[in-house]
Amino acid sequence: MSVTLVFLLSLFAAGYLHGSSHSERPNLVLIVTDDQGYWDVGFNGCTDIPTPNIDRIAHEGARFAHGHVSYPVCGPSRAGFMTGRYQGRFGFRNNPTLNPADPMAGLPVEEDNIAEVLDRVGYHSGIIGKWHLGTHPKFRPNVQGFDEFYGFVAGGHRYFPEDLIYEDIESVDRKGGWYNTKLRRNDVAVETDEYLTDELSHEAVDFIARNHADPFFLYVAYNAPHTPMQASQKYLDRFDHIKDPLRKTYAAMVSAVDDGVGRILAELSRHNLDENTLVVFISDNGGAGNNGSINTPLRGTKGTLYEGGMHVPFALRWTGHVPAGLDYQHPVSSLDILGTMAGVTGVEIAAERPLDGVNLIPYLTGERDEAPHEYLFWEMIRSGDAAVRHGDDKLKVAYKTDTTELFDLGEDLGETTDLATAERRKAERLRKELRQWTQQLKPQQFDGLGTWDPATNLAPRRK
Ligand code: CA
Repeated sequence: MSVTLVFLLSLFAAGYLHGSSHSERPNLVLIVTDDQGYWDVGFNGCTDIPTPNIDRIAHEGARFAHGHVSYPVCGPSRAGFMTGRYQGRFGFRNNPTLNPADPMAGLPVEEDNIAEVLDRVGYHSGIIGKWHLGTHPKFRPNVQGFDEFYGFVAGGHRYFPEDLIYEDIESVDRKGGWYNTKLRRNDVAVETDEYLTDELSHEAVDFIARNHADPFFLYVAYNAPHTPMQASQKYLDRFDHIKDPLRKTYAAMVSAVDDGVGRILAELSRHNLDENTLVVFISDNGGAGNNGSINTPLRGTKGTLYEGGMHVPFALRWTGHVPAGLDYQHPVSSLDILGTMAGVTGVEIAAERPLDGVNLIPYLTGERDEAPHEYLFWEMIRSGDAAVRHGDDKLKVAYKTDTTELFDLGEDLGETTDLATAERRKAERLRKELRQWTQQLKPQQFDGLGTWDPATNLAPRRK
């Protein structure tokens, strides 16, 4: 091969020959925490758990005062932000069973997730941590667009290496044992020796070190501070001022994540990538009722359609592009993560699967000053609850009891005063909008989380 041809091929590999040089296409880092409360970051007011590194993302970029996820529990929320579409559109309306023999229980392969979308413009993608979008081999990260996977496929995990005893999820022989599988590097089980959150941070830094020269998408999906509540002594020692043992362990788990975020940001700086990397931080749903989290001033917790279920810590940094210290007030959605990533990379979205999310960058730079969304919608098929937000108005409906509540989130973020009777016509109008949206959704496509018992293997096995 001639020297010239080698040179041209190397240029092509670097993306220069189709106008997609590294400097034009930012790296993308998505950091997700699990069941972290709205209040439990410094940038939302937390006082007992310092989060200086997570706060840097908000302070050096934008905080979303009204940042929502599209579902108040893990799996469907992830199906939403990974596709940029309301997950109910493709029937992902509950946490799926973890049965690895079930070929229905996962993110439908015909949907495009962030990694698949970015693959079209040459991004190298890695996921580190929790997947929770299907355990059947057809659903796993390496066959859904990710070049690298380091983590676990279920919805949570134990944090200490000695607890990780199963080779893979197929070997699990009891309910809950899916929290005890060895981590996997792509499709190979690995032995680990660190506290899990540190292990994942370590891998994230390593991913950046290996891939910094070309555009990458790094999805760091911490399972902390989701149960089981387990922290290492190093982090517990920081919280002698917290007397409640549950809150103390939670604080230590959040602090471990914060250290990890600091290491990730430092690695980006080390490679001079601050201005060429868009960093997003979000919790996958609101603080849970069982992990010591705090959602103040919001009402409710994970699993509800009060704000505490789906109004979350959410921040975005893109140094030199998004103004530092912006406190963005219009409601935004986790569905906008893919909208934004598609916008800044210029990748085309398949016409038959339009995004519900939008590119937030023009809104954050002031190029556009209207609200990014006229409406945001939620539904939980199992509980029969649904909700819609239109500006500051939020309507919540419990269909099983035919209960309608209307709140003015501008005046009453804590949802203390139900205006449904006083503002009956507004409530009726919003209820109609909600019904029209709900009618666009696809029936639930799979069995729920509690249906598989590996001990008796009673889970329904579809042909
Ligand atoms: Ca979660």
